[in-house]
Amino acid sequence: MKRTLIAIVSLCFLLVSCGKKPVLRVSLTEHVNPLMGTASVFEFSYGNTYPAVAVPWGMSFWSPQTGENGSGWMYSYKDTLIRGFRQTHQPSPWINDYGTFSIMPVYGELKMSDKERGVSFSHVNEMATPEAYRVKLDNEVTAALTATSRGMVMEVTYPAAEGQYIVIDAYRKDGSVTVDRENNRICGVTRYNNGGVPENFGNYFVVEFDKPMVEAGTDEQVCAYAQFDLKPGETLTIRAASSFISPEQAQRNFDREVKGRTYAEVVTETRQRWNEMLGRIQVEGGTDEQRKVFYSCLYRTLLFPREFHEPDAEGNPVYYSPYDGQVHEGYMYTDNGFWDTFRAVHPLFTLVYPEVSERVVQSLIQAYEESGFMPEWASPGHRGCMIGNNSISLLTDAWMKGIRTVDPDKALQAMLNQTEARHPHIASVGRDGYAYYDQLGYVPYPEVPEATAKTLEYAYADWCVARFAESIGKREVSEAYYQRAQNYRNLYEPEQGFVWAKDAHGKWREHFDATEWGGPFTEGCSWHWTWSVFHDPEGLSSLMGGHEAMAARLDSMFVAPNTFNYGTYGFVIHEIAEMVALNMGQYAHGNQPVQHAIYLYDYVGQPWKAQYHTREVLNRLYNSGPEGYCGDEDNGQTSAWYVFTALGFYPVCPGSLQYALGSPLFSKATLSLPGGKTFVIRADQASDACRYIRQATLNGQEFTRNYLTHEELMQGGEFCLQMDSVPNKERGTRPSDLPYSYSKR
Ligand code: CA
Repeated sequence: MKRTLIAIVSLCFLLVSCGKKPVLRVSLTEHVNPLMGTASVFEFSYGNTYPAVAVPWGMSFWSPQTGENGSGWMYSYKDTLIRGFRQTHQPSPWINDYGTFSIMPVYGELKMSDKERGVSFSHVNEMATPEAYRVKLDNEVTAALTATSRGMVMEVTYPAAEGQYIVIDAYRKDGSVTVDRENNRICGVTRYNNGGVPENFGNYFVVEFDKPMVEAGTDEQVCAYAQFDLKPGETLTIRAASSFISPEQAQRNFDREVKGRTYAEVVTETRQRWNEMLGRIQVEGGTDEQRKVFYSCLYRTLLFPREFHEPDAEGNPVYYSPYDGQVHEGYMYTDNGFWDTFRAVHPLFTLVYPEVSERVVQSLIQAYEESGFMPEWASPGHRGCMIGNNSISLLTDAWMKGIRTVDPDKALQAMLNQTEARHPHIASVGRDGYAYYDQLGYVPYPEVPEATAKTLEYAYADWCVARFAESIGKREVSEAYYQRAQNYRNLYEPEQGFVWAKDAHGKWREHFDATEWGGPFTEGCSWHWTWSVFHDPEGLSSLMGGHEAMAARLDSMFVAPNTFNYGTYGFVIHEIAEMVALNMGQYAHGNQPVQHAIYLYDYVGQPWKAQYHTREVLNRLYNSGPEGYCGDEDNGQTSAWYVFTALGFYPVCPGSLQYALGSPLFSKATLSLPGGKTFVIRADQASDACRYIRQATLNGQEFTRNYLTHEELMQGGEFCLQMDSVPNKERGTRPSDLPYSYSKR
């Protein structure tokens, strides 16, 4: 049956390709450069990424390790030594890793410690794809590894017979390693973490060799070694798997995912999984480099959040909860800062990968049941990082788009709790300053740190609560929260035309400086935070004095000098250094607060400026190399911006069911959507010169709006754009052309 189907498909493909010029079928993973963004250091981020070998949303990733144990910069392109091949769960160097262990082939003298066992290598001898990483070290040892969700297969060769070792590093003394000579294995548990775990946390692992160990042992640093006696060039195959639940579950994961399977088989299967996911968005046209950046970004968007659940004996999902330390049935996802990813990552999932959103929203409710709060930054449990109640955005956006896998009453309860309480120990979980916010209509500064940024995000979250409550018929809740969603107005300083800060007595903070970072803001200044009114740009524009005034303020952001006052940070944080380096005035694309701002031109009837600036950012601030991002990549967010923007639209306000228009990068893009539908975006003349939309049609009908609706995309269809080298200043200017704002209701 399967074979027949493949034959038919191949035949169809052959016929299609005969009609026009033949299409060279390459694996989309060949466009992906996992080394994009890896040349980062503490002071300056080109992405702060590492080359993750993984399946999409995999429970564990594998990466070469160039930094010492404990360093968040696990792999830096600037480093010269490889110290191990590491199972990692790290979402960001600032959050660091947990449950990690590494495997290192050592040749010659046995060296166990990560400080001593590193071997130099050269980038010309490494090959990285999503499904595999291969390297020939300078000592002639070769290593190649591939991964499943919970397992890996690695092949190692040594140049000569003497001194062939594998070292396994369980990272810290609270872990353990045991040599099982009989079964030719090393088993252990790693308890390494940086917080966000209960007392009983552990990652249990099994590492099995296909050739006999001739000697083996452990040291006090929780490292184990095994010695082998292979012919020069003979392949040692290593298979490993792990579990957060138990050693027995680790064995189950091993048996399901890697037992008896060759490296080549796993590479092929993992590549197929990537091609299936990457292939839901097909782009044509553009340059090789643009396609490389696009698919490298799509790869990064599809890594996080990771699945934390594991299949039990019957294949049903169960998970160790990082919230209460118990094993539960159901789905759990983690390693995500929603402050970053609510913006574009989760909206991309709701559109193209809804099966992931279906489970992610369930896991939010599970976390609420187990800990009393939904996560805002999880890795693996609650972590104190960033601000806001963006878990609510995830729930509302998914619900509004018809992803309804949660109990609505329970979801509303979780949302309300998130806005009316604060975690007893972690200020960023729940709502910090909620009593002030409820009483004053804003969070005061200096009484509460980052108070203006919090106020703006809470107002958006309140709009999300209102929208959700409205859609399930809870009118009282929705009316109250729609009203609170206007609280952003309370911190708009009309004299300056920017958001600023007030203390608890209602007094404006002195010495206004739009370039002052920190203080009432988070990783930005008023230039960036003033735009954080996702749900009501029209209301913001009325505060500013109308559409023209808001457009002028947006214009000035790009031409203002890129000066800064580092304020309460007391030093040049990397986000400041990146804003200065990217050289677009006060536009700081390297961090999240401002990433939707260009699209606000659509809301004030000047869409051609969104078309201009989005193309500038695509061209100037991304490349497929190790210096490929202009700041932290952040769990897919800075990548998802590229993916959406290259398609020609962006979800400015998750929950609104609209996508604001930019300017497509490619002449054709095809989205494969649920239910077998496809949505095609055509912009035949699209180029750097022809970046402006002259006119558009949707399914043959004239289309004048500056936004597409979720429904229009999901129905499938063809969106055709006539591009031009000069802006069409008539198109997209009528009130009905402008995207959603609450104030227009
Ligand atoms: Ca960031």
